[in-house]
Amino acid sequence: MDSESICPECGAVLPTGQSCQELFDQMLFWEWESPPLSEVHHLMVLCFHLQHPHLYSPEGLAYARQLLDQFVVQGLSPAEVRQQNRAQVNSSNRAWKITGTVVSFGAYEHPVRWTMTAADVITGGPENYGARVHAWAQSIQQALTRP
Ligand SMILES: [Zn+2]
Repeated sequence: MDSESICPECGAVLPTGQSCQELFDQMLFWEWESPPLSEVHHLMVLCFHLQHPHLYSPEGLAYARQLLDQFVVQGLSPAEVRQQNRAQVNSSNRAWKITGTVVSFGAYEHPVRWTMTAADVITGGPENYGARVHAWAQSIQQALTRP
């Protein structure tokens, strides 16, 4: 029996029987255990969802790509982004849903070749968590803008 499996969405190599969701839970646990690590919480959640786009609606995925650009390229803080996007995501005037459903979910026009996944963040351990999450976000931004 093979002792590894590959996540069909992000390509992460996983021990058999484990899913990416468990990697996500592990990262949340580290943040809970060590509150300074939650400084990159917004990036971690965004990265994980961008690599599992079915979790978003099509509009949610487009919005997530905009957020990644605002964080990684423009260098905005979560507070600045919230301020800038207030009108766009205010649920009382938003006609679209952020999360995907079985019939309406996000997907990329072309398959994306990811160079880093949640598994690479986990192998760095909690001591490298902040740096790895930043590198993960950069790698996703590059993978999505690669011609
Ligand atoms: Zn995955």
